[in-house]
Amino acid sequence: MSGLAPWLEHTYQQAQQWRLQGTFHHALLISGSNGVGQNAFAEAMAKLLLCEKTNNAPCGQCHSCQVAKADTHPDLLVLDGQEGGIRVDAVRQVVAKVANKPQLGYSKVVLLHEAHQMNVNAANAILKALEEPPSSTFFILTSHTSRALMPTILSRCQRMTLPTPSPEQVNQWLLNEAKVDASKLLWFSQTPYHLLALTQSPSFDMLQQLPAWLADWLNGNLRTDELAGKANKDATADFIDGLLALLTQAVQYTVTGQCHEQILAAVTGLLARYDIYRLMTFIQQLTELKAQLDKTHLNPTIQIIGELNSW
Ligand SMILES: [Zn+2]
Repeated sequence: MSGLAPWLEHTYQQAQQWRLQGTFHHALLISGSNGVGQNAFAEAMAKLLLCEKTNNAPCGQCHSCQVAKADTHPDLLVLDGQEGGIRVDAVRQVVAKVANKPQLGYSKVVLLHEAHQMNVNAANAILKALEEPPSSTFFILTSHTSRALMPTILSRCQRMTLPTPSPEQVNQWLLNEAKVDASKLLWFSQTPYHLLALTQSPSFDMLQQLPAWLADWLNGNLRTDELAGKANKDATADFIDGLLALLTQAVQYTVTGQCHEQILAAVTGLLARYDIYRLMTFIQQLTELKAQLDKTHLNPTIQIIGELNSW
């Protein structure tokens, strides 16, 4: 067992086969919906490749496995685009390092999380390494928008697409992993790692209550400043995303007649008051507001009150 989420197990076994047969491609691109587990899967690939045994890798016993477990493996190099882009000098440093022999075992691994965050220069530097790979070096790239990658990079990589789990699988996994019942938040997100991160943030409680607050506001039982005040400083982006999800699902409800039980009162409340065109206008306005708040230091509560007053 890999210790990975159950929906990743089948794909993992396929990679284990490649390792066993010596057919693991030197460049692997892991794609799939955002938050299904690309990073965890990529890290598992690194452990699989760094193990000194071929049979039953990762064995968990060899020196490489032990060091990899402690996250201090000298032949594992990580570039992470989550923290605002991957720069060319960072890529060059990594490429220079993998030109040397492995320090511990038989292989070197470069992990490139969120590879679409590379700028053109960084992408060109990686491309060169992919075209003339140093010996016993594996490049593992992850991306949820692989179309944003340069076609020349795509053509050099073997693709592996991770499956999207069902809502039931997500819920069961969260119960096991975080001992939380996230079933009340499946209207907001169905991507497991996004939900897992939420369970550890102040947004978790806020988002569980947001549909009821919105329904109360629509019924006149909550004032606008009270509703906007629920978006505390650390959770403003999630608050706006929550409103966006509710508006979007109200629009969808007019077509499908279905929505999650937890948000039914909010959705029917929205539809009783606004037509679909108004809802779409609100979606657009809120999306613009969110982008603005990212760039400026405007007081978010005042901005949200202004927005809600226009509804
Ligand atoms: Zn090992």
